[in-house]
Amino acid sequence: MEQIGIELEKAVELILHHGVEQIKTHIIPVMKANGAILAEDIYAPINNPPFDRSPLDGFALRAGDSSHASKKHPVTLRVIDTVYAGGFCDKRLNAGEAVRIMTGAPIPFGADCVIRQEDTGFTPGKSEYTVEIYRELKVHQNYCFLGEDIKKGQMLLKAGTKITYIEQAILSSVGIMQIVVCQKPRVALFVTGDEVVPPGSQLKNGKIYDSNLTLLYNRLKEFQMEPVVAEYLPDQPEIIAEIIKKVSESVDIIITTGGVSVGAKDIFHEVYPMLQLERIFWKVKLKPGTPAMFSMYQGIPMLNLSGNPFAAITTFELLVRPLLAKLSGDKGLNTVRIKGVLAQPFTKTSGARRFLRGNLIEGKVHIPPTEQHASGILASMAGCNCLVDIKAGTNPLDMGNEVEVILLDV
Ligand code: AMP
Ligand code: MG
Repeated sequence: MEQIGIELEKAVELILHHGVEQIKTHIIPVMKANGAILAEDIYAPINNPPFDRSPLDGFALRAGDSSHASKKHPVTLRVIDTVYAGGFCDKRLNAGEAVRIMTGAPIPFGADCVIRQEDTGFTPGKSEYTVEIYRELKVHQNYCFLGEDIKKGQMLLKAGTKITYIEQAILSSVGIMQIVVCQKPRVALFVTGDEVVPPGSQLKNGKIYDSNLTLLYNRLKEFQMEPVVAEYLPDQPEIIAEIIKKVSESVDIIITTGGVSVGAKDIFHEVYPMLQLERIFWKVKLKPGTPAMFSMYQGIPMLNLSGNPFAAITTFELLVRPLLAKLSGDKGLNTVRIKGVLAQPFTKTSGARRFLRGNLIEGKVHIPPTEQHASGILASMAGCNCLVDIKAGTNPLDMGNEVEVILLDV
């Protein structure tokens, strides 16, 4: 049953209820996984480091051999080998012996500590030489254990983790080259309106340059999602219905702007019957963007947002973003609400629930002058980082009033 004029929370609930099935996954190279969402828990296949190693340049020895050693009374050990990072000493170290060792090299069998080069005296270069030990060491002093960083079998990364350069490096450090990640939803984006032309076109009488295609296309890019289709459509229901039909075969979500209100060219009311489609809801109790519409077409969620740019932004963030969060597995896209204090007054009464643009800095919410909030006004959005949620039935707001905001951060 279609619902008309519902609360925002109900609208989001309906969208998530209908719009999300199993998240699709695929395998990709770790090197290309930046920004991807891990779909499976990952356990360490090996220890890192894979062997006991030296944290510095010096000599590996047995701590017992260094007892009572000092600069005045050094202990002299026979140097039996040299081991570099990347190399391996296959000799076993016995009492009275040392192995010259570099940072990152495996500690030879038989040695239990490493002395820094600066605490020794030696003359390198000879094939057979000795080293003077100037201080006493404890067992496992200057000694990095195998698995110090990562232990084989330990939980390394949890499903749902967003892969950044750090996670990529962690995976690399245990030799993992491929991971299973959530597939990014394939988005189709359409802006409708006979008046809308792309920048670069001639601005004939009655035409305006597009804001919404650029707006939502790039917002999707900020969400690390590539719209697979992004097109301008005329206010012709047959054409729109045809294109939606076609595109529905190869996308996971359809987003449109324009044509959802009650005017003569609000063509989605004609598109729906052409697609033999029922609205799940139409009209959400919020300003701007009230006439937002939602349906499922061939199993694909379709959100039709109103065309005013600020309405498109607001309803995209409030209605579409939670769905994209679920479809992509990216919890970072879930709505974050925090409290702030108005830094400027807002002089209008809000009969209906209203969202304002704002810029939250250190707890203070800066808003443009009251007349700069209309849904057709985009420029005052520059620098804004949040939407201010003003409950229905709120009187004009004063500077210093507490408000709740929804962050636009990604
Ligand atoms: P509509 O939702 O189609 O009734 O459009 C509402 C208002 O938004 C009208 O003034 C349209 O000209 C404007 N509008 C619609 N689409 C866009 C767009 N892509 N870019 C900028 N303004 C738009
Ligand atoms: Mg229109």
